[in-house]
Amino acid sequence: SFDRIPLIAGNWKMNMDHVQAITLLQKLAWTLEDKRHDFGRVEVAIFPPFTDLRGVQTLVQGDDLKIVYGGQDLSPFDSGAYTGDISGAFLAKLGCTYALVGHSERRTVHGESDEELNAKTKAAYKHGLVPVLCVGEGLEVRQAGKHVEHTLAQLRADVDGLTPEQASSLVVAYEPVWAIGTGEVAGPEDAQEMCAAIRAELSSIFGDEAARGTRLLYGGSVKAANAAAILSQPDVDGVLVGGASLDPAEFASIVRFES
Ligand code: PEP
Repeated sequence: SFDRIPLIAGNWKMNMDHVQAITLLQKLAWTLEDKRHDFGRVEVAIFPPFTDLRGVQTLVQGDDLKIVYGGQDLSPFDSGAYTGDISGAFLAKLGCTYALVGHSERRTVHGESDEELNAKTKAAYKHGLVPVLCVGEGLEVRQAGKHVEHTLAQLRADVDGLTPEQASSLVVAYEPVWAIGTGEVAGPEDAQEMCAAIRAELSSIFGDEAARGTRLLYGGSVKAANAAAILSQPDVDGVLVGGASLDPAEFASIVRFES
């Protein structure tokens, strides 16, 4: 919608070692190019495990693939005594465009707070990465009818202190937790309802112009069969795909729906 470039993003989660990653990426690139698919205005991004990123960089650069990539997380800090963490500076040096921030599995499994996610969002910008900020409610919140207020509260806390310029380049993924990896998909109207609410909230914080630039994705059991209806919604500018992104033919079909 408007002049926002649709983003089709694949979150591989903790799947694919660095050898498998190369095979999957080659198959994906082959599937897209073999069909002479013109990516047109669609941007394709993958989020492999950290250990795959060097290999992905080599393949993307060597074969001049029109696929961008990012880390599944980043540290709020630049460097230092943070065992096990990965700096945004390291991701940028590996050619990453994006970093996921606040995926629901990070929020629940690692107990990441909105305060910490706000710091990660800022760290991403500091290192020249675009954050793909994930927000969304769990089943109980949805059943209580409080999904919009819950999700907007996460959003407000996570984007606190950004500039309007940063907000306009931001990507926000609405991922209702009850729809992630469950086969349950929010309806296209549910995705639109939340994305419109997110854009209105961003507009009230950062201004209309900034909010018009922000790309809003839907995520949660997206497949080729349901992607087109979701992507046709006016405030939905792309999808974040988990399980189906591990199947190159399926993921390629999702990419083609928007072009
Ligand atoms: C995700 O992990 O971001 C996701 C949307 O997963 P799935 O597509 O498997 O539901």
